[in-house]
Amino acid sequence: MDSGRAFYIGRFQPYHLGHQFVLENIAREVDEIIIGIGSAQASHEQSNLFTAGERVLMMTKALEELSIKHYIIPIEDIQRNSVWVSHVISLTPPFNVVYSNNPLVICLFNEAGFEVRQSPLFLREQYSGTQIRHRMRTGKEWKSLVPQSTFDVIKEIGGVERLKMISNKDSV
Ligand code: ATP
Ligand code: MG
Repeated sequence: MDSGRAFYIGRFQPYHLGHQFVLENIAREVDEIIIGIGSAQASHEQSNLFTAGERVLMMTKALEELSIKHYIIPIEDIQRNSVWVSHVISLTPPFNVVYSNNPLVICLFNEAGFEVRQSPLFLREQYSGTQIRHRMRTGKEWKSLVPQSTFDVIKEIGGVERLKMISNKDSV
């Protein structure tokens, strides 16, 4: 096992089993993981349904099963890619390796001199935030695609009803 602290970022709208799979793999390679919750300011939108706090709730319980030290840090968008890495560094514990499959994230961290590693995709067609939100909106089964904690939080806060409500057009 390498020693070190890794950084992994997602929007986690919602946190699903694809993310959990990636984190389980990262946990085999490093000592500690910093998880950035991207677009932390966004919520109550069709593509950004949950608040940062709701996403923290989903992840905290699921990550208890991962016996690795981790830190969850909400990170707001700054709409300025050229200084985004500095923005991340200003908010997080220090890290020496980045895990991502996102081309922009890879590009920005590479240019800043970080080692960036890619992790394998895990049944990407079904384990995808977009797919899960679509299933929630259209009344299809989605529980099997997320950890129990994500399901519990979405139920507790009325996430499906929220998504349907904000997807509606103005009504008289
Ligand atoms: P959305 O469809 O809303 O963008 P998403 O499933 O892509 O949701 P993100 O929060 O955007 O989830 O993803 C964070 C990171 O997790 C991304 O770099 C993405 O490539 C990775 N990821 C998402 N799903 C999987 C998966 N099934 N297997 C491996 N990595 C995944
Ligand atoms: Mg995505």
